[in-house]
Amino acid sequence: MNRIRISKAPSLAELTSIGLGGKALAEVLVEDAPALERLPEVLRRLGGRPVMLGRGSNILAREGELPLLLVRLGRGFTAAEPRFLGLEEGGAAGVFAVPAAMPLPALVAKLCRGGWSGLQGLAGIPGSVGGAVAMNAGSFGMDMKGCLKGVSFFSARRGFFTRQAAELEIGYRHFAVPGLAEDSDDFWLVTGALLNCRKQALEAPAARPAALAAELEEFRRRKARTQPVGERSAGCVFKNPALAPAGRLLEEAGFKGRALGGMAFSGRHANFLVNTGSGRSAEAFALIEAARAAVKTRSGVELELEVRVWE
Ligand SMILES: Cc1cc2nc3c(=O)[nH]c(=O)nc-3n(C[C@H](O)[C@H](O)[C@H](O)COP(=O)(O)OP(=O)(O)OC[C@H]3O[C@@H](n4cnc5c(N)ncnc54)[C@H](O)[C@@H]3O)c2cc1C
Repeated sequence: MNRIRISKAPSLAELTSIGLGGKALAEVLVEDAPALERLPEVLRRLGGRPVMLGRGSNILAREGELPLLLVRLGRGFTAAEPRFLGLEEGGAAGVFAVPAAMPLPALVAKLCRGGWSGLQGLAGIPGSVGGAVAMNAGSFGMDMKGCLKGVSFFSARRGFFTRQAAELEIGYRHFAVPGLAEDSDDFWLVTGALLNCRKQALEAPAARPAALAAELEEFRRRKARTQPVGERSAGCVFKNPALAPAGRLLEEAGFKGRALGGMAFSGRHANFLVNTGSGRSAEAFALIEAARAAVKTRSGVELELEVRVWE
C-alpha cells in the first residue's frame, strides 16, 4: 500500500469516545510500515504539532481550531490475531507480536481463548494496543507492563527501533522512552508490542480457556456494574493518588453526580466525567478545575489528570 491519507480539519468530537473537542489541522492516516518513512516529511509540510491518536478513548480535547496533526495507524498495523512467536520459560509462557492498531478488547479476548493469561484484567478497556502501551492501561491488578516484553517504535529522527520492556520507563499510567523526552521535538509512536503471556496454572490444560473466559466475563460484569461503560466518557479523569482512590475523594468532596450543562461526574463512579449528550469541553474543564480545588481543600491532595488533554 505504502500510502498516507490526509484529511483536513477532522473533528475531535467525532474521533474521541467522550465526544468533545474542536477541529485539528489534519488527520494523517499512515496505512503501513513503509509509508511511515514518509511521515516526517508529510508532517513538516503540513506544519502543526503531531499527536498520536489511537482509538481516542483517553483524550479530552479543547474546542475551537487546534494546531494539531492527528497521526493514526491504518490497516497495515492491525491484525485479527496476535502472532504467536514461540514458547519461553520451559513452555510456561508464550511470546506474541501484536500490531499497535489492533483493538485491545480483541487482543484480550483472543489471548484468553487461547488459554493465555496476563491481560484478562484489562477486559472492557476500549482502545488500541498502541494506546494501551503508551498509557500502560490496566485494571483489576493487571496492566500492560505485566505482559510487555518489548516495544517497537518509529520516530521522526531515529526511524524504526525497538526496546526491551526493561529499557523503558513504565509505571502507573506512565510510559516514557529514555532518551526520547516527552517534550522533545522528535515525534515518536508505538508500532507494535511483544508480549509474554503465561499459561494459566491449571492441572488440565484443556480447562484453561474456559477458566479464563469465566474470569474475563466476571471482570466485564464488575466493570459494567461499577463504571458508566455505556456512556460517553474518556475513562478515569484523574489518577488514583496514594491516599485513596480518586473516585472516593471526589465523592467525599461532593462531586459524584455533579453536573454542569451537558457534562457530569458520573453518579455510578465519580472519577468518570460523562457527556450526557450536549456536553462542551469548557464545561468539562470547569468541572475538573472545581473538583480539583474542592479535593485539595478537603483532603489536601492535588489530583493529577489521567486523561490526555489536547489543546
Ligand atoms: C469506558 C472506558 C473505560 C476505561 N477503563 C479503563 C481502565 O480500566 N483502565 C485504563 O487504564 N484505562 C481505561 N480507559 C481509558 C482508555 O481506554 C485507555 O487509556 C486506552 O489504553 C487508550 O487507548 P486508545 O487507543 O484509545 O488511546 P488514545 O485515547 O487515542 O490515546 C491515549 C494516549 O496514548 C497515545 N497513543 C495512542 N496510540 C499510540 C501509539 N500507537 N504510539 C504512541 N502513543 C500512542 C496518545 O497520543 C495519547 O497520549 C477507559 C476508557 C473508557 C472510555
